[in-house]
Amino acid sequence: MTTLIHSLKQLHRQIRQAEISYQRPPNSVLLLAVSKTKPASMLAIAYQAGQRHFGENYLQEALSKQQALGAFDITWHFIGPIQSNKTKAIASHFDWVHSVDSLKIARRLSEQRPQHLAPLNICLQVNISNEASKSGIDLDNLAELCEQVAVLPNIKLRGVMAIPAPSDSFEQQCQPYKTLYQAVKNLNKPELDTFSFGMSDDLNAAIAQGATIVRIGTALFGKRP
Ligand SMILES: *Cc1c(COP(=O)(O)O)cnc(C)c1O
Repeated sequence: MTTLIHSLKQLHRQIRQAEISYQRPPNSVLLLAVSKTKPASMLAIAYQAGQRHFGENYLQEALSKQQALGAFDITWHFIGPIQSNKTKAIASHFDWVHSVDSLKIARRLSEQRPQHLAPLNICLQVNISNEASKSGIDLDNLAELCEQVAVLPNIKLRGVMAIPAPSDSFEQQCQPYKTLYQAVKNLNKPELDTFSFGMSDDLNAAIAQGATIVRIGTALFGKRP
């Protein structure tokens, strides 16, 4: 699996270079390996090459990989759409959830987070640019939802996640991230330190606009079926 290891190194170079180009501090951007549809054996290869953070979209698939990789010290991120009947398992088996888009889901995650675990790190998913993706809250509702979620005991509100409409233009890729970054900064809450921005096709724009976590699937593991 030399291509996977090569891709991982290449991504680290690209992230490091973007940090320099856009005056971001060194190591301020975390690479989240998005492993949906990929077998546990591929995650194991990435792990052995040093990767520790993995993102999954589908609960059952994630749980079976977690079982297979139980011996590894992996930080698991849930990044897919959340149905209410899945919150208990998500709250029990993940360290981070990036795709929280309602108070109802946030409350359930807080109530169902097992007491022996640290608070669950969450990001609110914000729908910044598009009609195409129905997921995420409107930017207008961000401030209020932050207030409501911040008081929940077993989750820790860390920041925001966004999936803008795809674009080939760097400028257009930057614009929605810039808007959302500024909106979060305007809330004046230093505990909101996480910007889950950027995927394989727009990670430079995302890093330019303040990403602290980039969620990379295709550029690391190859195309999905
Ligand atoms: C699949 C997925 C990614 C990774 O996308 P790539 O374009 O393959 O890098 C990132 N974020 C979310 C929420 C995803 O569902």
